[in-house]
Amino acid sequence: MNYRFADRMRKTPRSFIRETLKVTEHPDIISFAGGLPNPSVFPVQELAKTAEEVIREDGPAALQYATTEGFLPLRNWIAERYAHRYGISVTPDEILITHGSQQCLDLIGKIFIDKGTHIGIERPGYLGAIQAFSLYEPAFVPISLEMDGPALDDLQNFLQIKNCGFFYGVPNSQNPSGITWSDEKRRAVADSLHDNKGIFIEDDAYGEIRFRGDIPRPVKTMVPDQVVMNGSFSKIITPGMRMGWICAPKPIMDQLVTAKQGTDLHSSILAQRIIYRYLSEYPIDAYIKRISDTYKCQCDSMVRSIQEHFPESVSYTIPEGGMFLWVTLPENISSMEVFARALKEKVAVLPGIPFYTDGGGFNTLRLNFTNSSHEKIEDGIIRLSRVLNRLLEK
Ligand code: PMP
Repeated sequence: MNYRFADRMRKTPRSFIRETLKVTEHPDIISFAGGLPNPSVFPVQELAKTAEEVIREDGPAALQYATTEGFLPLRNWIAERYAHRYGISVTPDEILITHGSQQCLDLIGKIFIDKGTHIGIERPGYLGAIQAFSLYEPAFVPISLEMDGPALDDLQNFLQIKNCGFFYGVPNSQNPSGITWSDEKRRAVADSLHDNKGIFIEDDAYGEIRFRGDIPRPVKTMVPDQVVMNGSFSKIITPGMRMGWICAPKPIMDQLVTAKQGTDLHSSILAQRIIYRYLSEYPIDAYIKRISDTYKCQCDSMVRSIQEHFPESVSYTIPEGGMFLWVTLPENISSMEVFARALKEKVAVLPGIPFYTDGGGFNTLRLNFTNSSHEKIEDGIIRLSRVLNRLLEK
């Protein structure tokens, strides 16, 4: 059968990560390639009890269709969290519950991107966003990511393009680089957005998972009408329930609600009620601290092993939070070759190439530190060092 698919499907890359994970899932392999939270921190017993209570006590409402915007008490909780953690003042009307924060990216693509609309994205940028936006056939404009945030010249040039849709970025512990934007860069980005009437999509998937430094000020606090902020329960409770949210100014929210109605009517009301009840009954700050402490130990193990074993010509980021660090190899070393050779040593890494919309990233790697024990982290980094040393000797 010759199936005729829409043009957009030809232009959308299959998720390289999903393809890679298939190879790296073997139990013998130490994998730094994936992006999974550590399952040992999932609140399994608490959620089992909460789910049972929700179904037993609120069954008819929890199992019925519900509103597109989402469960009001949960949206209130998110608004209060924003006020308390970030000093962001929003009403629940500016919050829409989504199916993971990945759905935010799809809905944003749906309402803002026409074929050929220019979209600014960090270079390197989050692969899931590249994939979600690609379906709407934009023209990507890479904005170089420096150690303290986006290159301001690139941003300025982008914002002056006539048909520019939005700039998308991950200011806190970015995926893939682990970089957190400095306060100065956030201010400068906000000024640029203000002067050019630009829109910023501030993806805050990792904002709560922070194990070093102060809590940075979101760009949303500086130019609130020009920022759409995405959040997620995936990293602070569990990704399996697929619960996220968008926080957007009312006129944008109206469009998002229409787009979501066409997509799935609403996110699971059962999952929303379970999450809300869990948040009401358990001390979430203590849980988040436990997750952050666990990830800090894993991150420190990886950084220590890298410092001890990697060749000196290799550089890397030291994250303040999140789940990844970023490795830059000498210019002539191919990360694809490192990937292939490392697999033979039974360690999996993720080449940085798919995180670039313009074909860069030849000599970069993303390493995930949240899903391996200390022993495996050290063993994996030693194996990877052997591969790098051999390649550098050539
Ligand atoms: N944004 C970023 C930057 C991410 O890394 C991820 C998950 N890896 C997501 C969004 C989507 O996460 P979820 O749909 O689980 O909320």
